Amino acid sequence: MQIDIFALANPGDPQGTATQEARRQLDICNACRYCEGYCSVFPAMTLSRAFSDGDVTQLANLCHNCRGCYYACQYTEPHEFKLNLPRALAEVRVESWEKFIWPSGLAHLFQKSGVSLAGALATGIALLFAVAYAMRPESGQGFYAVLSHTLMATLFSVASLLPLVLVSVGLWRYWRYVGGDRITLQHLRDALVDAGKLKNLSGGSAKGCNYEKQDRFTMARRWAHHGVMWGFLLCFASTASATVLHYVMGMEAPYPLISVPKLLGVPGGVLMTLGGIVLIGLKVRAEKSLGAPAVWGGEMAFVLLLTAIAASGIALYCATGTAAVRPLLIGHLGAILAFYLTLPFTKMVHMFFRLAALVRDAQTRAR
Ligand code: SF4
Ligand code: SF4
Repeated sequence: MQIDIFALANPGDPQGTATQEARRQLDICNACRYCEGYCSVFPAMTLSRAFSDGDVTQLANLCHNCRGCYYACQYTEPHEFKLNLPRALAEVRVESWEKFIWPSGLAHLFQKSGVSLAGALATGIALLFAVAYAMRPESGQGFYAVLSHTLMATLFSVASLLPLVLVSVGLWRYWRYVGGDRITLQHLRDALVDAGKLKNLSGGSAKGCNYEKQDRFTMARRWAHHGVMWGFLLCFASTASATVLHYVMGMEAPYPLISVPKLLGVPGGVLMTLGGIVLIGLKVRAEKSLGAPAVWGGEMAFVLLLTAIAASGIALYCATGTAAVRPLLIGHLGAILAFYLTLPFTKMVHMFFRLAALVRDAQTRAR
């Protein structure tokens, strides 16, 4: 007997009200097409006459919530059509992440009460590290005088692999749901180029989008995303190079400024911190009703956590050789561990689903 794991993971998979509402609005937009040049959602939408649940989910994950279409629309309230496409797609997007990532109840909980949950998790993990520090080995050097290398390596290996497995399964479910075909190198290349440039965050015009204010076009959100994304990748490369130095060359942290981990990690941390601060400011100023208001707290918790990791990493570097290293290292590693453990249930998953949506979009355009 063949067992459909996908069906088991999504029992019944009832068509949500968010999907129905988004489909109603997409049908209107598909007839109107005024916003055709705004982003990749509209060209993809015009390829269909009727939208399946998978089509709606794919279009929702292509949307960047730039809000340009809302401010340009003549059918927003008080018009009887009550168009609010950015919100309709944002709600389907969140629903899709909650549905595809296992266990779905956890994603829902984090999205609903993200600030308190992230705070509690980071505090609990920092306390755990404080206990581990109290029981530290006598012989440790550098950072390993604060926490043993074995403890760090074990904790972070498990904590980074587990989310990757959950996200991979979630992406596989997404791919089946949106009817994805076999992926070629060309599809991947097109999607990675679009993602690397954050092309769609320009709002379809050279002036940028008006995410935080109706009459103000700005590139701020795009540049802030660039800062966070490239900063994150530089920090990731820094960690990978430090692993090579430790295991292959026998050189232990902390490393001097003129070393590969520092030359990648310091600019990466600065970029992430600055990008995160700008994103926090934009999110506070932006109109909540044009996103998914129910998950605003969870999204803000994610940006705060990411910014705290980057800022505490920079602070740790500045404090090298002082007594502040111990509490800073414990707080920094606690925040990183919280980030890894909550990764599949936070806004971080949008990076993976967006890339999958771009690959699917490249397939559709190539037909
Ligand atoms: S958002 Fe409004 S103006 Fe834009 S395509 Fe849809 S219905 Fe037309
Ligand atoms: S909010 Fe922006 S990205 Fe989303 S559909 Fe409207 S114009 Fe496109």
